Amino acid sequence: MAQVTRFKQRGWIGTILLLEIAKGMALTLKKLFSRSVTRQYPVERPSIALGFRGQHALVRNPDTGESLCVACMRCATVCPSKCIHITYHQDPETRKRIVDTYEIEALRCIYCGYCEEVCPVNAVVLTEVYEYASYDRPSVYYDKDRLLSNWDRFLGESGRDPKTYVNPFWRPRGADERTLPAKKRLPVPEEWTLEGQAKGIPLPVAASHGSHGGAH
Ligand code: SF4
Ligand code: SF4
Repeated sequence: MAQVTRFKQRGWIGTILLLEIAKGMALTLKKLFSRSVTRQYPVERPSIALGFRGQHALVRNPDTGESLCVACMRCATVCPSKCIHITYHQDPETRKRIVDTYEIEALRCIYCGYCEEVCPVNAVVLTEVYEYASYDRPSVYYDKDRLLSNWDRFLGESGRDPKTYVNPFWRPRGADERTLPAKKRLPVPEEWTLEGQAKGIPLPVAASHGSHGGAH
């Protein structure tokens, strides 16, 4: 049952002496000498929690320099915002699908992470980059080249090794590992897991990204 709190009515002494103002000023005076809780962003950088979903990227294959995407269309199908648009053609000889265009309308994204969880080859990801606010729409409408450069930016700013970095949050949570495609079962270094963080194993690189202004 909801509880109703009744405040005592102000008496005539309180009315004359304006006690509320005196109390307010006393509180202000007290806080003047207490420790500040305001973070001086961007000078003080926030540490990013594991599993943070930030700027979209297409993972660049470190061997070929191309995107890992195999145009299976799972991400575009599962996306609840319908903000992923892919076109492809089939190689007549190998029968492999070749991606022609890959676009994400970031402004429509709700950062659910379904696309990165469902991708069988860890090609599309949500990086830990959070500074990409913009004053115009085109700069947050990502085409394939921009998504690949987003990945380069993420690697550059975080110092992750493109050959070994695997984020456990690219996997669907709670799914039986045996049912996942091979790429989703790649070993994850202990420091990148919640268990490793609970044990206090430090991350190899400070999670701080870039010097561009404006948080998303
Ligand atoms: S995070 Fe969710 S809404 Fe955003 S692109 Fe991926 S599936 Fe779509
Ligand atoms: S789920 Fe992965 S491989 Fe499939 S189309 Fe999307 S990014 Fe490409």
